[in-house]
Amino acid sequence: MPESPIQADNTSKPGRENASDESATGHWWVLHATPEWTNAHVDDDSQQVVNGLMAAFAELSGSAEPALETLTHRWLYARSDAGGEPQPGHPWFASEQLGLAGDWLAGGRIEGAYNSAVGLVDAIGGSGQA
Ligand SMILES: Cc1cc2nc3c(=O)[nH]c(=O)nc-3n(C[C@H](O)[C@H](O)[C@H](O)COP(=O)(O)OP(=O)(O)OC[C@H]3O[C@@H](n4cnc5c(N)ncnc54)[C@H](O)[C@@H]3O)c2cc1C
Repeated sequence: MPESPIQADNTSKPGRENASDESATGHWWVLHATPEWTNAHVDDDSQQVVNGLMAAFAELSGSAEPALETLTHRWLYARSDAGGEPQPGHPWFASEQLGLAGDWLAGGRIEGAYNSAVGLVDAIGGSGQA
């Protein structure tokens, strides 16, 4: 990215219309960089990251309005990586009666958490332990 940031207008979500200050106007935008851009800039200082993302946002949106407030955050551990191997999904150790479920086993997102839990429940049921 920031050549092409993923962007979300947080103020467009239900219940978030300047919820903390009804007199406030304006928008909160969330800008996500691509993994490639983040890897290349992971040790940049936060103002450099703001500048890069804001420049890309201005290009995409056509708005060069400066931000009134910015906040940067690196999600260093947000993605689980199985080193190219298939992710285990929902390990179930029947002899120990021990199962594992979570996003980190199945792709790192909310659907991964859901699929992992559903898969584990099925595995437990299939083993006659449910
Ligand atoms: C800021 C943020 C924004 C996100 N936005 C999105 C999004 O827009 N879309 C999306 O798909 N995903 C998003 N995610 C990711 C999503 O939240 C996770 O993929 C999902 O919550 C993982 O579910 P989980 O059940 O695997 O783990 P978690 O939701 O982390 O649940 C683990 C639970 O275990 C508990 N726990 C941990 N250790 C112990 C212990 N020792 N004893 C007892 N309990 C313990 C924790 O308190 C927690 O309740 C976001 C995550 C964050 C942090």
